[in-house]
Parts: sequence; C-alpha cells; structure tokens
Amino acid sequence: MTAQIIDGKAFAAEVRGKVATHVARLRDEHGLTPGLAVVLVGEDPASQVYVRNKGKQTAEVGMNSIEHKLSAKTSQADLLALIDSLNADPGVHGILVQLPLPGHLDEDLVINAIAPEKDVDGFHILNVGRLGTGQKSMVPCTPLGCLMMLRAHHGSLSGLDAVVIGRSNIVGKPMAQLLLGDSCTVTIAHSRTKDLPQIVRRADIVIAAVGRTEMVPGDWIKPGATVIDVGINRIDAPEKGEGKTRLVGDCHFDSCAETAGAITPVPGGVGPMTIACLLANTLTACCRANSLPEPEGLTA
Ligand code: NDP
Repeated sequence: MTAQIIDGKAFAAEVRGKVATHVARLRDEHGLTPGLAVVLVGEDPASQVYVRNKGKQTAEVGMNSIEHKLSAKTSQADLLALIDSLNADPGVHGILVQLPLPGHLDEDLVINAIAPEKDVDGFHILNVGRLGTGQKSMVPCTPLGCLMMLRAHHGSLSGLDAVVIGRSNIVGKPMAQLLLGDSCTVTIAHSRTKDLPQIVRRADIVIAAVGRTEMVPGDWIKPGATVIDVGINRIDAPEKGEGKTRLVGDCHFDSCAETAGAITPVPGGVGPMTIACLLANTLTACCRANSLPEPEGLTA
C-alpha cells in the first residue's frame, strides 16, 4: 500500500483563505480588524525567522500585526508591564510571547500573565484546564492543526485507537486531550514507555512528536493507519552539497508511507498548519471578544 499524502501546505492555505474571508467580513460588517501582538525577547535566529513569518502571514490575511522586539536583557518587570498593556489594548485580540525566553525570565509566570482570552498559543494554565475539562478554550496551534487534518481525512474520529508519542505541554498532552475530546481511545507514549513498537502497531492514528530523527519505522505502522509527523529534525544532506542540511520528521517517511493509509510529510505537513492555526485562533479570539459567532471549522 502507498499512503495518501496529507498536504499540510495546501491545507494551511485553505485555512488562511477561510480566515481572510472571515476577517474581510468582520471589517465590512462590524468595522473590526483582529490584531495579533507578537513579543520577541532577544535575538535567537530561529525565533526571529518564526516571528517574521508570523507577521507576514498575519498581514496577508488582513489582520493587524503588532511586533514588540525587546532586548535579551529585558527585565521580567518590563516584560510583564508590556503584557499588561497588551492585555488592556482593545485593538489586540491575540498575544503571543515567542519561546524560549532568555534564562533569567520565568516562562510560566510570563505566559500566565497573558489574559487567557488573548492567549492564542493556548499555553495559559486556564486554557490548559479548560481544554482538559472539555470547556471552551484557546487550543495550542500545532495540535489544533493536526486535529483539523485528521478530521478532514477521517470525518469522525470516534472510537479510533490513537497513540501520541511525546508528552510535552505544547504538543503531546494537548494533542491527547483533543483526540479524547473527539472520542478516540488515546495512549500517550514517552521516553519511559515499554514496548513502543507494539503500542504503535495497534493504532489507527499515530502522532509522532518527539524530536528524534526518523525513529518510527514503517514496520511499526498498522496497515492503513494515519500517521501525523510533528517532528522537525535537521540533518546533514551531503547530496545537496557540502555543509547543506535538510529537514526530516520523527517517522521514516518512505517505509511508513508503504504501510500507512495516509501520512503527513516533513517539511510540508504539520509545520505550515501551525501558523495557520495561530491566525485562526486570533480570529476566534476577536469574535469571542466582540460576542460574534465563531468561524466554523477553525476551532476545536
Ligand atoms: P519535547 O522535547 O518537549 O518533548 C519530546 C517528547 O518526546 C517527550 O515527552 C519525551 O519523553 C518524548 N521522547 C523522547 N525520546 C523518546 C523515545 N525514545 N521514545 C518515546 N518518546 C520519547 O518536544 P516538543 O513536544 O516540543 O516537540 C516535539 C517535536 O515536534 C520536535 O521535533 C519539535 O521540533 C517538533 N515541533 C513541531 C512543530 C510544528 O509546527 N510542526 C511545533 C512544535 C514542535 P519524556 O517526557 O519522557 O522525556
């Protein structure tokens, strides 16, 4: 069997299109423009690239993009004061603090200082609790993107056996909560899990969110299963020239694609969905803040 490729790039473009349509309607019918504030502390090159992409895509869907670039030496008090002012700003509907923060800043404290209704990353403890108890929340972008692709591929996920490999707060745990919310039978695996291959072999849905190059081989995959590869790993690519690199996932793509029914590639799978879902969350936050109906198909 050769798997269907789930094209995250195309799917993300579709999500951005829906967001842009809804944003135009908000502007025309209500005079509203959603605003996303992104706060970057320090000069981490990868974070700078992410923030630039977020700003560009925010503007492309017609939203206001507000960027705050702070020095790596910014004090906790100054960062918290900025978050307070963004919380109070009615033109800002979403706030994202780019992680990781420099070591002298307390990430939990900073994230929990964001107004929960503006926490478009879904990392605030209140949103985590709401997601875990099935209440309306802001949902972390990467797992939300995975859920959207799974729903589009399967329709109903009810009763399916899902394995999430990885238990981080930003991917593994919220992913498991979302799958549970859609009535999957969920197993969360991690570095201490015994006999991971056997656990993965019984899954209809495999979500790999580990950060280990191609650790899931094709012979772990149940025939016809759906494989969502969240991992992003950079490896040497001498075939592209000296010193060149390329990205691969946590799943061995070629062998998994032989057995799976559907699979997301890396790059071009989950990655593009993450920013698309950030835009969707900002739109949702704006609608909620103004007691307007939420966009359909863009929330959990
Ligand atoms: P973390 O490092 O926070 O978590 C990794 C998880 O994998 C941990 O729970 C760890 O277990 C588990 N793990 C490590 N080794 C093994 C193993 N041998 N067997 C089973 N489980 C193992 O990573 P993140 O969740 O932040 O990210 C995971 C991957 O997803 C990374 O490659 C990251 O780059 C990528 N990513 C991609 C995004 C996208 O937009 N596509 C967004 C976010 C992340 P334990 O808890 O026991 O240590």
